[in-house]
Amino acid sequence: MKAIRVYEFGSPEVLKYEDVPTPQVDRQQVLVKIHAVGVNPVDTYIRSGSYALKPDLPYTPGMDAAGVIEKIGERVSNLSVGDRVYTSQTLTGAYAEYALCTPEQLHPLPDNTSFEQGAAINIPYVTAYRALFQRGRAVPSEKVLIHGASGGVGLAAVQFAVAAGLEVIATVGSSEGRKLVEQSGAHHILDHTSSNYLESVKELTAGHGVDLILEMLANVNLAKDLSVLARGGRVVVIGSRGTVEITPRELMSREGDILGMSLFNATQKDLNAAHAAIYAGLLNHTLRPVVGRTLPLAEAALAHKIVIESRALGKLVLIP
Ligand code: NAP
Repeated sequence: MKAIRVYEFGSPEVLKYEDVPTPQVDRQQVLVKIHAVGVNPVDTYIRSGSYALKPDLPYTPGMDAAGVIEKIGERVSNLSVGDRVYTSQTLTGAYAEYALCTPEQLHPLPDNTSFEQGAAINIPYVTAYRALFQRGRAVPSEKVLIHGASGGVGLAAVQFAVAAGLEVIATVGSSEGRKLVEQSGAHHILDHTSSNYLESVKELTAGHGVDLILEMLANVNLAKDLSVLARGGRVVVIGSRGTVEITPRELMSREGDILGMSLFNATQKDLNAAHAAIYAGLLNHTLRPVVGRTLPLAEAALAHKIVIESRALGKLVLIP
């Protein structure tokens, strides 16, 4: 089969498109024929060698994919050949034509969801769910500011929040992003490149501020976020690419909280809750994964450049 292999950490060019043996299933494993692969920012951090998690070299990248079960081990009882699934991790890497998985790494993909959409589910939607409900403790009728709403996590968060009865103020940096966020149901959309969007947040909340902020780029926004937080408000830091200086008094006067989050800290119970909520949302169509651009698997290096350097408009997906 074809797969991407990485022999050394470094720039996107270390992603090599090669022939490798198709993995064989053990008694408790499942082989999935991959139809689509989701490219996440974390794939690029791991590839560069700058991330806490460093796989043994050589390795095949990728956690998120969607496809069809090709073979199952004799001890696997709850899955069948032909099932449509999305992955939340794999044993052999998702950037490939086939991936070996444990049954726990596979989740049902409803018929109303394409494989490309399936590849856009795991990291974005589980992160959005965890940030909103498990870390952010969002409750219906609260006002939530979702920064960077046109990206993978942002769109997922908008859809989850709207379906849960929150009032959603979303930020975007482009008119194309605005359209996607509008289609996902955000109630108010602001431009995070404009100098006065914080004033708009204050106006939209009658001066009270928002109860919850999902922050995708904390090094740029965190200090400003605190000035539009309601009393008892929470900021969940999902993404950050540098350092930031804040004014603690802004937090003290509001008794606000800044909460970090990392998907890798989620317990099995947390993950089960997120995947169950995702399944229900896909079935009732409140969750609609947005695919931005698709590229052939052989173009993984280009995909890694795009995901970091270009404007995100839905999910970037590789097709084996
Ligand atoms: P993505 O699809 O590449 O989207 C990035 C988003 O950031 C875009 O919507 C972009 O909006 C937005 N952005 C750019 N400049 C911004 C600014 N100044 N203020 C607010 N937003 C801005 O990435 P993703 O998959 O959604 O992930 C988002 C971040 O969360 C990444 O840093 C990722 O590493 C991180 N993440 C963390 C976890 C975790 O466990 N903590 C899990 C998943 C992802 P425009 O293009 O419209 O400007």
